[in-house]
Amino acid sequence: MHSMMPEKLLEILFLFAATAALGQEVRFVGKAKYLNNARVAVVHSIDDSTKYVPATIDAMDKYGIKSTIFVSTENDPVPEDRFFTQLQIRGLWPRLRQAIADGHEIGSHSRQHPCKKPDDESFCASAYTDYEIAGSRDDILRLTQQPYVWSWCYPCGNCATYPFIQKRIAAAGYIVARNYPNELTNGHVRPGVRDFDGNPMNAGYTQVVQHRNAAKADLVDSVAIKAEFDQVLDKGGVYHFMSHPQWLDYGPDAFYESHLRYVSRRPDAWYVPMGPLYAFRTIRDKTAVKRDGANVFSVSNGLDRKIYGGALTLEFDAPAGVEVLSDRRLLATRGAGPADRWDREYVRREGSRVFVTVLSNTKLEFFQPDAPGGLTGTWKLRYRAPNGKDRESTLELTQDGSSLSGALSSERGKTPVTAGRVEGNSVILEVVRKGNGDEVPVTCRGVRKGDSLYLSLGFAGGEPVAAIASR
Ligand SMILES: [Zn+2]
Repeated sequence: MHSMMPEKLLEILFLFAATAALGQEVRFVGKAKYLNNARVAVVHSIDDSTKYVPATIDAMDKYGIKSTIFVSTENDPVPEDRFFTQLQIRGLWPRLRQAIADGHEIGSHSRQHPCKKPDDESFCASAYTDYEIAGSRDDILRLTQQPYVWSWCYPCGNCATYPFIQKRIAAAGYIVARNYPNELTNGHVRPGVRDFDGNPMNAGYTQVVQHRNAAKADLVDSVAIKAEFDQVLDKGGVYHFMSHPQWLDYGPDAFYESHLRYVSRRPDAWYVPMGPLYAFRTIRDKTAVKRDGANVFSVSNGLDRKIYGGALTLEFDAPAGVEVLSDRRLLATRGAGPADRWDREYVRREGSRVFVTVLSNTKLEFFQPDAPGGLTGTWKLRYRAPNGKDRESTLELTQDGSSLSGALSSERGKTPVTAGRVEGNSVILEVVRKGNGDEVPVTCRGVRKGDSLYLSLGFAGGEPVAAIASR
């Protein structure tokens, strides 16, 4: 312990005076441990290219569970090389591409699933070839829209403990490799990992949810596996359960779906596959947040965006009513509830706490909106469409007290504002966008700051798009 130096005391007094003069300072509190400040990250992974994979994904999608789907990518392996129930992966790809669009991840489980029980060093040295490690990665990149392959899973749990094998996996660009320890002695049933694993190249999980062997002789203790989840939830952490789709029972009343239902839709959970979860940890740890003005913060890291393109959550203490711009885009507000994506931006408020979930490398600006009066006139509206194209429209507004009317026009034609109003400091506009034979209702919410209107365009069924309107 040491006494406070007079200079330090002066500095604190000065900061206090500056804060008082500004009145309502926004304070950075810290980086949330999990996205959206969730209490628990729920991760699921499934192994092997079997015909049961689509049924498993369908079951997960009923409950909003997100998973890493580990597949062996060899197309049409010759029959004698086929790993027990491995069918031709060829038939799975369309369903896997849909799964990626729905927020799952495809991970590599090698090409041919080399397996030896128990393994040994010489087997690992010869089985873990470039063909298996890099080849399966390239198959996934070639056959899906996934931008990167983050996750590896050791076939039969083999070779996970050898540092020279871990190095080969990491050299191919994988950032996490899941194990399956001690199958011969049932050590794989409940490894009990309840947070990020200290060694991501030999990464454990919490427990299996499956019959204990292929013969389905052992029943599943549903009460015990639920209790394990409860304990992770109680303390906070990562709950990662894994399954082999060929060792499950299907149907709403069977144990697998019952467990999915039990862990689903928890308001303080983040549902995320394994690779994006481990990428998140790196993004969180490497991102610097610096004050860059009274209520402006820069958020930056030097990471490769192809691998680490996901979001992180920053916690601020801020006065009521503040709005947040990320690189001049108004962040949409979302209520409490589970998070199930890793690449979205939004703001969630909890009393004086503001949780800002943003992609890294941005500038955050907090501000109190101006009262939305004098909106009558012609505004130029600019936004980036979900397909990445920059668009410009003209917004004509007539304000009569709290009521707004007008029209939105672009090269696609003119569409009237079907409902418009001012609510507190918010501007709310509803229009119907016509295109390709269908009509899409769009609800815009915005705030005014000086001569600009910052809007969030809510397309039905899609993510909000940020727009800026200026005179
Ligand atoms: Zn396997």
